Amino acid sequence: MRACFGVKTQQLISRVFRHPVHPSAAVGWRLAQSRLLSAGESKPRPSMLKHLTFKIKATGPITVAEYMREVLTNPVTGYYVRNNMLGPDGDFITSPEISQIFGELLGVWILSEWMGAGRPKHLQLVELGPGKGSLASDILGVFSQLKSVLGGCSVSLHLVEVSPALSAVQAQTLTGSSSVESSSEDDPVFRRGETSAGLPVFWYRCLEDVPAGFSVFIAHEFFDALPIHTFQRTPKGWREVLVDIDPEKQNRLRFVVSPSPTPASSALIQPEERRSHVEVCADGGVIVQQISRRIVEDGGAALIADYGHDGTKTDTFRGFKGHRLHDVLSSPGSADLTADVDFSFLRTMAGGSVACLGPVTQKMFLKNMGIDARMEVLLRNCSDGPTRMQLIRSYDMLVNPEKMGERFLFFSLLHHSRLARPQPTEGMKLEDKRPAPLPVGGFTEISFS
Ligand code: SAH
Repeated sequence: MRACFGVKTQQLISRVFRHPVHPSAAVGWRLAQSRLLSAGESKPRPSMLKHLTFKIKATGPITVAEYMREVLTNPVTGYYVRNNMLGPDGDFITSPEISQIFGELLGVWILSEWMGAGRPKHLQLVELGPGKGSLASDILGVFSQLKSVLGGCSVSLHLVEVSPALSAVQAQTLTGSSSVESSSEDDPVFRRGETSAGLPVFWYRCLEDVPAGFSVFIAHEFFDALPIHTFQRTPKGWREVLVDIDPEKQNRLRFVVSPSPTPASSALIQPEERRSHVEVCADGGVIVQQISRRIVEDGGAALIADYGHDGTKTDTFRGFKGHRLHDVLSSPGSADLTADVDFSFLRTMAGGSVACLGPVTQKMFLKNMGIDARMEVLLRNCSDGPTRMQLIRSYDMLVNPEKMGERFLFFSLLHHSRLARPQPTEGMKLEDKRPAPLPVGGFTEISFS
């Protein structure tokens, strides 16, 4: 069924489309900062493998979650802490790095949710795992184009980032050289700065440190980087998969199945589970609970986009190095580790305190947000052949079901009031006369007619 999008959201989208950025800016993989992190890397890296084998020798096999946490976010040798992994020269590429259109459409989504919430005076944009800062930068671009819509609303940007090195790249993207690092380890804000438009930007190590207040949370390819526990169904019941040293090959790691239940295998498997191999991202569940509580208490919305499934997949833990699959246990710390996000688990963890929408495919979300109309404008304004080709290629990458279009899913958490019919006005008798709530962008088909 073709439903109509909220009129206001439609207007927002058309205003963004009327003022296109130069087409060449909307395409292409962003190379600007890709070398930033490698400069100054003169010291040899401490060996992650050595660190892990010491740990396993001292305490016994470790859980996959502990392995993943150490490999990705160990403060000295962690993959995210040390590497610039995003882009054509890195290990993987993400949608905001492929095309600016992606961030623009998310910017419109955020504004439309802010309007749907009654245009609160303060808007905190909170991004979890901002990578190079490209997504936030494109979102803020839309905000500045639609300044008159935001009116007197004060906007601030809050970035949750585990990597000090990546935070420097984000700062360069968003604030030029204006940001300063905190001099105290105890300061929850480890870096702060201001955009050229005067918007304050704050960096935190974890979500708990972000101040309370009406917030829109964005997490793109963040949840897939969080540690997962993995479990195997055995004749004796559920057992956790652990990482151990391979006794037959020196300096090699291997998976083993715990002979007895672990705290995680006792606590994290749902009684109705039917699969025989299961991955559970407990950290992701905790973060969704924190976001939900904030939405209930302070208002706001969350948009989570990642590759994932709705509680159906079994074994998705994998590594990426140089845009190719990489054995998760070999040369730990040199490759990205990731697992598909289980959206049904996130929905369970939200626990009904907020409304959950989706997951819907990236193709559907972007089309519902009007990516086709946006492309039309860009192509109309572009006569340069190679740029047109690049535009078409990046569009195809984002929406083609064989590429990112169906592998990536969008999921939203909303305050229940957002989907409720407005209270009847005085004198109104029939419930049905109350206007329906505005549809939520991306999850409902858009109509430009
Ligand atoms: N959202 C960006 C980057 C995705 S890569 C994009 O789509 O392009 C994952 C990001 O999450 C990186 O910025 C990484 O440093 C950050 N990250 C990974 N684990 C994290 C954690 N536990 N806490 C905070 N940030 C984390």
